[in-house]
Amino acid sequence: MFCHRRMSAQDRRKRIHKRHVLIIAACILLTVAVIGGTYCITTILLQRTKSAHTAHIASSPTNQKSTSNLFTASTGDPTEEGAAFEVRKINLTGYKARFPNLYAREKVGQWKNVGNKTVYLTFDDGPSALTPKLLDVLKKYHVKATFFLTNQPGQKNDIHYIRDIYEAGSTCAVHSACHNYKKIYASVDAFLDDFNEMHQIIQQQTDGHCAPFYRFPGGSNNPRMSASIHKAIIQEMMRRGFFFYDWDVDSKDAMGAASGRAIYDNVIRGMQRGGGVVLMHNAGTKKATLSEVGNIIQYGIKNGYTFKAMDGTLDPSMYSFSNQTFIPLLKNNPNFKLSDKHEARFASLLGLSPASSFTSRVSSASSDRKNN
Ligand SMILES: [Zn+2]
Repeated sequence: MFCHRRMSAQDRRKRIHKRHVLIIAACILLTVAVIGGTYCITTILLQRTKSAHTAHIASSPTNQKSTSNLFTASTGDPTEEGAAFEVRKINLTGYKARFPNLYAREKVGQWKNVGNKTVYLTFDDGPSALTPKLLDVLKKYHVKATFFLTNQPGQKNDIHYIRDIYEAGSTCAVHSACHNYKKIYASVDAFLDDFNEMHQIIQQQTDGHCAPFYRFPGGSNNPRMSASIHKAIIQEMMRRGFFFYDWDVDSKDAMGAASGRAIYDNVIRGMQRGGGVVLMHNAGTKKATLSEVGNIIQYGIKNGYTFKAMDGTLDPSMYSFSNQTFIPLLKNNPNFKLSDKHEARFASLLGLSPASSFTSRVSSASSDRKNN
């Protein structure tokens, strides 16, 4: 009996011990299951959010990656770039809130100076009935050019040539839809209305490859534009990722009666002076220009020049007539990166020789920007 009782007591202790072990094991299993489950759910949710975000960026018209090699200067991660554009779209009011898809397709990378034997032929006011012939000339010499395009009433039957320009490998950029100074320079809203119209046309014709730069009708020092509207337009366009180019060689073919010989001489003299961006026109009336393009290219090839289409790598401050406004804005816009070595040149361009006064000017432009 004594032995039986003693065994029973041992059995009870063993049973209690076994129960404790089972309870602890169950607790451990439960804890592991809860932690594992939470981890799995969190991972799945994070992956879904990330792929939705990536899909949104990939489908956004402002972030479609170029399939052409024209904008190889873009060095940014498209996801980061998309995120940057998204951030800039938050809490916008007034003209900033208009045209929510009107953003440059991609950010440009570091700008670089080019050798003085690189020439960019630019043609304003096209397309026109002369565009196919001009493309033939460029093709003959394997030259790509840059077209700052318009959509004026007389161009209705020629707009489809924008696709030919794009497919030939030349650059398509906005000049203006209506090219009416009084209308487009009346306000930032008016400029945006016009710009957006032309940008949409080019995007359609080029499968979304409108260049992230433009040219002001009449140039950036157009007296029909007030200084305050001028600054506001530049600033707003830069916020949307667009910058502008003027030119440093004028063929003067905008003058109605310019002869082919005069156009040729103006361009060649400009090239010999070291000019890089040549202003010409591709409007339907500019037959004299068309007749000289081949001769200009022949001269260039014979004399060691290289002709290129603008691709966003060319420092626009080198080709701007309104650097007093443009450079401080360029220096302080997060979308554009200028290297430090440009600072001394900017200071001299702005007539601010001591570096300190340039810096203070930039600081005041910066605080001005923050208030807008
Ligand atoms: Zn023009």
